[in-house]
Amino acid sequence: MEKSKNKCWVCGSYDLVKIKDSNVTEELVSDNYAITNSDYGKTGELSKCLNCHFIQCTKENDVIHFYENLVDTEYETTRAQRKIQEQRILKLIHKFKPKGNLLDIGSGSGILVEAALEMGYDAEGIEPSVWLHKKAKERGLPVHNGTFPMKNIDDEYDIIVLVDVIEHVNNPKQLISEIRKKLKTEGIFVMITPDVSSFFARILKFRWWHYRIAHIGYFNKKNLKLLTNSSGYKQILFKRPSWYFKIDYLVKRLYKFLPSFLHIPIPQFIRQIVIPLNLGDSMLVIYKKNDD
Ligand SMILES: [Zn+2]
Repeated sequence: MEKSKNKCWVCGSYDLVKIKDSNVTEELVSDNYAITNSDYGKTGELSKCLNCHFIQCTKENDVIHFYENLVDTEYETTRAQRKIQEQRILKLIHKFKPKGNLLDIGSGSGILVEAALEMGYDAEGIEPSVWLHKKAKERGLPVHNGTFPMKNIDDEYDIIVLVDVIEHVNNPKQLISEIRKKLKTEGIFVMITPDVSSFFARILKFRWWHYRIAHIGYFNKKNLKLLTNSSGYKQILFKRPSWYFKIDYLVKRLYKFLPSFLHIPIPQFIRQIVIPLNLGDSMLVIYKKNDD
């Protein structure tokens, strides 16, 4: 194992070892970063921190321009089932904060923002992709184009949401510290990210569906806690969220893991059914500010 000069983005240790070579052969373009990209197992070079076990991409982490140019038409076709997902998240949020202003960072085309507005929240989002921002605007949703932190948004929020974003950034500690500054004293922060120590991640190893180019940081329950505790947060809820998919979407992805003789034809009407799926490989955590 080869030691690297890189610093762990979570604990700051230099004790990092390379665990995977890059298997990216083509020149990367925005399509590689699409939300619905299914090139599982394709990543840049990955290193693991021996101190906190966080896994991070060691090279080519300057990825924001890919998100700015991102066009993801398949994502828009999955809007209905994604909305069910967002409504579930909001139901959990509602238990802690039944009203107030909400900011969704990395809001895509504003699906969570739309669902939050329908529930009576004063919601807005921030999205780097020009195309996804345009899709939100076409629906009249209050989504800003750009990255967080950003001017022209409220000074403080009751609720800040970061769904499947933290694994895409090369400065997770800085990001959640900036988020904390924007939280009201009694505000809550909601984060979802894949769990690299989950059952499926362990058995599938680098074939696990969350190993993909766009994911440059891989957390487990322990180092996520380390990151948030050291940034002034206190966990108030931990949950394994379900995701909602059309059977068609799942079948197409499942086939990638199966030999072709197992690609059994499935009728269209069944493919259109939306089902919840809980693989236990994602973490949903709600935090408040820790002022102790
Ligand atoms: Zn570390």
